[in-house]
Amino acid sequence: MPRMADQRKTQPTRDRTSRSIRPRREIDRFESLVSELSAAMTRASAHEVDREIELWLGKISQALGLDRSGIYERDSSSDPVRTTHTWKRPNIPPLPRDFDPGKVLKRTTEYVLAGNQLVFSSPTGVPAELTDARDFVAQYGLKASAIIPMWAGDQVIGAAGFDRFRAAREWPSKLLDQLTLAVRLFGSAIERKQSEIALQAARSELRIASRRNMMSQLVASLVHEINQPLGAILSNLGGVTRLLSQKNTEPAMALAAVSDAIEDTKRTAEIIRRVRFMFKGHAERKIAIGIGELVTEVTKLIASEAALRKILMRVEISPFVKRVVGDRVQLQQCVLNLLINAFDAVRDGNSDRREVAITVASEKTGWVRISVCDNGPGIAPSVANRLFEPFVTTKSEGMGLGLLLTRSIVEQHGGRVWAAPNPERGTTFAFTLPIAQRKQSRAAKNHQ
Ligand code: ADP
Repeated sequence: MPRMADQRKTQPTRDRTSRSIRPRREIDRFESLVSELSAAMTRASAHEVDREIELWLGKISQALGLDRSGIYERDSSSDPVRTTHTWKRPNIPPLPRDFDPGKVLKRTTEYVLAGNQLVFSSPTGVPAELTDARDFVAQYGLKASAIIPMWAGDQVIGAAGFDRFRAAREWPSKLLDQLTLAVRLFGSAIERKQSEIALQAARSELRIASRRNMMSQLVASLVHEINQPLGAILSNLGGVTRLLSQKNTEPAMALAAVSDAIEDTKRTAEIIRRVRFMFKGHAERKIAIGIGELVTEVTKLIASEAALRKILMRVEISPFVKRVVGDRVQLQQCVLNLLINAFDAVRDGNSDRREVAITVASEKTGWVRISVCDNGPGIAPSVANRLFEPFVTTKSEGMGLGLLLTRSIVEQHGGRVWAAPNPERGTTFAFTLPIAQRKQSRAAKNHQ
């Protein structure tokens, strides 16, 4: 207790024995606390880091009989210093909400952020040149403090302050070493948290970029698709013109050419309708969706691709599957990604029968499963553990983004996606989606 520390000063005989033993015990105890802290920081996931740091500021402060502690961060030398984590004893006044050490303690802040510790055991121990710190200590009645720069790698990203108001206290160098280590552990955890946040931001940018990419690929293949019937229409109409100009006496021939042209025009219109449909609502928009119909829609869209590649595509949709709530375009993209991958896989296999089956079935209660099964050569061992990572591809023209995009969409919809080898040949990729609750379904319908 701090009061006892004061009393000890006035009782030299008891003081000598207890003083030499106490700091050692305190240091030993503190050392094991810091190893616990190290383990806790390693375990903490990015979103738990802040909570853990505040918890540990409290544990450290209590273990050392301190009254208030805090962490101050600065992103760069031109940014303001922010108080990011604090702990205090109940009866100790908190720092003002808008406390800005960079302003109130400008010189001291620069001193600490330059990598220097400011440690004093009593108010008179504050270095004379740090006048702002002297004034601050006098104004707030601080008795002892240790302000330690917080390193992350080879950079100071902030500082941690440990204050005592009720009485002075010594800071044995071994204890300070441990405290410095604790602050470094905080710094590393904060750095890890920040880089994970940056990674998440980069991933979402990637998601947007790759979605755009997928879309442009889709457009390219659809333009290709439209060009075919347009060419046929042109040649049929050319034939009709010739027949008419030659005053042809066989109207049946001209009629056949015209009806072919009509059929091709219809096909083109249908393709355009589907493309427009795919682009409609490109921004995320969740509605109640019949997943069976969605899958059928996508399979129709790539039926000609399957025919071109001589792939037998089977579609099995259970009539018992309920609706899901989701973004139509995004879910279409997932199905399309898995189908295109399966098409690529069967092309690479040496089997004379190229087969891809897509199944929509009820999963355990409340879930629906969409599986795409191929009889290709299976997943290459070199990518087997990294399938859902960005830029992992075995294809010369591949981008290695399809599965990443699929997973992120599926997870955004509350489901999960996985791949498993088939017992005989090939692979099955599957994802689950939660079925719409009645209320959701109604709300989504109203939103439509
Ligand atoms: P990309 O198709 O551009 O390569 P993806 O992320 O969609 O990107 O796929 C990553 C890799 O996963 C592919 O290059 C391929 O090696 C593997 N893969 C995906 N689907 C299958 C499949 N059905 N069978 C075997 N390997 C597959």
